Amino acid sequence: MYTIEQRDEQLLGTQAKIRYHCFFDRAAEHLLRVRMEIDLDGGEDDVRCTLPAWAPGSYKIRDFITHVGNLHVYNDSGMLLPVEWIAKSTFCFYPRGAKMAAVEYVFYANERTVRTMHITRWRAFLFPVNCFFYVEGRQQEVHHVILHFDRSRWQSLTTALSPVTALNESGGPVILGALNYDILADSPTEIGNHLVRSFTAWGARHEVALVAPYAFDIDWLAEQCRIIVETEAAVFGGVPYDRYVFFVYAGTNISGGLEHARCSVNMCDVQALHDPQKAKSLLALLCHEYFHVWNIKRIRPREYGPFDYTKEVHSPMLWLAEGFTSYYDDLFAYRAGFYTREEYLDLLARDHIGKLLQVPGRRAMSVRQSSYLAWVKLYAQSPDGQNRFPSYYLKGGVVALLLDLAIIESTEGRRRLDDVMRVLWQHYCQRPEIGLTEEEVLQAIEEVSTAEVRKKFWQWIDSTDELDIASAFAPFGIDWLEQPKDTPQAGNTTPYLGLQLRTEGGRLIVSSVMEGSPASKAGIAVDDELIAVNGKRITTEEELLRAFSWGDKVTEITASCDDQLYTTTIEYMPAMDYQLRVRPVLGERQQKLFQRWLERSFA
Ligand SMILES: [Zn+2]
Repeated sequence: MYTIEQRDEQLLGTQAKIRYHCFFDRAAEHLLRVRMEIDLDGGEDDVRCTLPAWAPGSYKIRDFITHVGNLHVYNDSGMLLPVEWIAKSTFCFYPRGAKMAAVEYVFYANERTVRTMHITRWRAFLFPVNCFFYVEGRQQEVHHVILHFDRSRWQSLTTALSPVTALNESGGPVILGALNYDILADSPTEIGNHLVRSFTAWGARHEVALVAPYAFDIDWLAEQCRIIVETEAAVFGGVPYDRYVFFVYAGTNISGGLEHARCSVNMCDVQALHDPQKAKSLLALLCHEYFHVWNIKRIRPREYGPFDYTKEVHSPMLWLAEGFTSYYDDLFAYRAGFYTREEYLDLLARDHIGKLLQVPGRRAMSVRQSSYLAWVKLYAQSPDGQNRFPSYYLKGGVVALLLDLAIIESTEGRRRLDDVMRVLWQHYCQRPEIGLTEEEVLQAIEEVSTAEVRKKFWQWIDSTDELDIASAFAPFGIDWLEQPKDTPQAGNTTPYLGLQLRTEGGRLIVSSVMEGSPASKAGIAVDDELIAVNGKRITTEEELLRAFSWGDKVTEITASCDDQLYTTTIEYMPAMDYQLRVRPVLGERQQKLFQRWLERSFA
């Protein structure tokens, strides 16, 4: 039966017939050496081993097999067994009566993202779904990972796996375990000299592991994580695990997060640990990934677990898994006190709703379709992508907001989106092995609110109709304002051209063009070079925008496409600013609904 739940005590003292020995003696070359031991009963004709092609939570075929090399299989007396590749990530060997087979290979781990492995002379991030083959038909067995490393050099180890022997026993390899392959695949480990703190909340142990290039106040970070746990678990009245790890990596040019059942992996710019404003986006990221403990790891679309690791798994429901989580991340950051009410309303207006209103693709594809096609849309960005589909994070987040408002309004503040999440949570608790259908989510919405709200919501996720922001906020006494953005120089507006630029060898090149924007109307296209404005040479985006803000509304542009010059005129539009403004005086009902939506404590 499919399960992702594991408690540490379940693994203590277990035996495993599938064991991955990991050696880090070539870490400086970014290499992991693996010796995978498979106990056999002696009667097998052949044994098939497969390496996943993707990591759940990141919807892109990555073919981790690319990084595998020098693969050989030996029997228990050390003799080579013949190996045959039968698919790009699957090989088969013939044990010929052997009682044990050992698969040896190296794995090249040098990609610093949350979804890939990175091993250096200083440390190792081990992500099992990247580097451990599963034995077909034996995924439900207990699996062990045995780590061989110099404990005097690498003194910290943090893992979402469960220790098989007590971790503090000195000397010898460290043995970790998982109840089945799915749990193994979902459970990363960091070894090195990172900082670690722990705290207890809702009866569970929480660990914070910080991998950063220099010393940082980890106590502050651990305290913020504790507040996040307290805030989010309050919605569900507890946590569904015995132990949870926040992995935080701070560095240069790294970002993103990935959720797991018992941990999250978060990456941020090192500045986020110093700059209070950037720290807020790190905290919102932590809120986001932590909410996935419930929404997606457990409350999940039917397609998302058990997984087929060999090929794309499509679901039209990422509006729930990622969209709702995008709404809740900043909402929890607000409830946790990381944002003031004014900051939160600004964030919603500019970074959620305003951003969506600037994406032409919202009129080209529904968020259900954009979810289904995540593998070839969001995760395979074309420079034209923003014109063809809306991100299910962005639009999914805005429809979650509108749904929350609609539920609160239709129930006079008695119910809210939290109640829908709790109904879905009950579904999981009663039937953890099977995920949800869309119909079940829609039923939960109707159960908590009304059939009318359900109908409206379906329209939002299944069509490309424009969302009516203003009327969603009106009952809350909040005005939705779209107006031209002013620049500091009085009388000037910020010009909006609708293109993104990059510089290449001192040349200004167009990276993307928003459909229907001034740039697109002027016939400027991706990869064109912008050369001059009104006869004056430009080489930076600043020079381009300056020419507009001080010049005429209609401007002549000299550009080049395929090395041939052309001129065109462009009429800029003012850049828009978006605001949610609370009316100075609220009616009694508005006051009640508004308080309900943004209340911070939950009895
Ligand atoms: Zn997410």
